Amino acid sequence: MARLTLQNIYKRYEDNTKKIFGKPQKVNDYAVKDLSFACGDHSFIGILGPSGCGKSTTLRMIAGLEKITTGKMFIDDVCINELLPKDRHIGLAFEDYALYPPLSVYENLAFNLKAKGMHSGDIKKSIDRVAPLLKVDELLAMKPSALSGGQKQRVNIARAIIRQPGLLLLDEPLSHLDGKMRQTLRQEIKRMHREIECTTIIVTHDQIEAMSLADTIVIMKDGELQQMGTPLEVYDDPVNEFVAGFIGEPPMNLLCSVIAKTQEGFFFTFIGSDLRVRVPERYNNAVSDGMKLTLGVRPVDVLITGKASSTPVPVAVYENFGDERRVSIRVGEEHLNLTTVEEVFFRRGEIIHLEFNSEKTHLFDAETGAAIK
Ligand code: ADP
Ligand code: MG
Repeated sequence: MARLTLQNIYKRYEDNTKKIFGKPQKVNDYAVKDLSFACGDHSFIGILGPSGCGKSTTLRMIAGLEKITTGKMFIDDVCINELLPKDRHIGLAFEDYALYPPLSVYENLAFNLKAKGMHSGDIKKSIDRVAPLLKVDELLAMKPSALSGGQKQRVNIARAIIRQPGLLLLDEPLSHLDGKMRQTLRQEIKRMHREIECTTIIVTHDQIEAMSLADTIVIMKDGELQQMGTPLEVYDDPVNEFVAGFIGEPPMNLLCSVIAKTQEGFFFTFIGSDLRVRVPERYNNAVSDGMKLTLGVRPVDVLITGKASSTPVPVAVYENFGDERRVSIRVGEEHLNLTTVEEVFFRRGEIIHLEFNSEKTHLFDAETGAAIK
């Protein structure tokens, strides 16, 4: 078990040329910029962000496989910047399993323990302890080539935890697996974490994976930390437009809006659309007549009402998924999507009335994307 602290970490690769319009060009940019966060003992952290945002770079620096350009990293109270990977007491499992093909699952699990000079009796004890946690106890005699993707990934993770690391690092461990297998292994990883209580960091671009596994999520974009919080905090209270749009499926509606002041108060209006929606009162001090901003509202928080007082709008798309229905409305050049579990049926062009769950609307600065409180 271990605490991990990152303090103002920057990473610039020596060779950071990129092909821009087919020509390699030196991009003088950092892969990770001023990243600071801390993980407590036993915690399960999810580093989440789109491809190329610096997640794996961060994980590799924690593991000691990549040099830190500037900044400091600590495990408990020890600065690990110059510590060799083998001295960091870390377990690693990456996306590709890299199991040794000629060795059985048992021998793969035993490999590092043997190299450390552990006796075969103790090795067996360790394997007997870890194998059931990841349900690989039935596979011990098999060769990697006989295993499915999900089974290989289980062995890969078992191998990472067998040395009882203080810190377990998982880089996209589920990304090669299909939907059902991902879900099963996700549950196994969660159960394993509860049993071994090892501080764990998972890197993923899949928000469902991060939301379901981690107790704290670190959201990155372009090498920078955007927000750190519990799954519910980042879902309910995104600090900017990027986080708002990244977390949640189907994604939050983000509509360009112009505030209009009338005798009845402030309204959201939309270019090219008659739709007008009342601005929740709590924003009265933050908005002004003619102000441009981005309105964020999740599809579940757009409500269909019977009230004729709200703006009538025609249905553009209606889809029935069995367990929920999705309705899309044209708002100028954009679409406003809503989902409902109510058993409603609409034809295209049918007129409906909408209301926003005013507690669940979000406003973002049109220029910077920062949340307006
Ligand atoms: P992620 O894991 O979030 O997809 P990475 O950490 O792999 O992102 O990459 C972050 C940035 O660093 C990207 O722009 C990538 O091209 C660059 N990068 C990653 N590894 C190297 C490397 N070995 N050499 C040069 N640039 C790299
Ligand atoms: Mg990666």
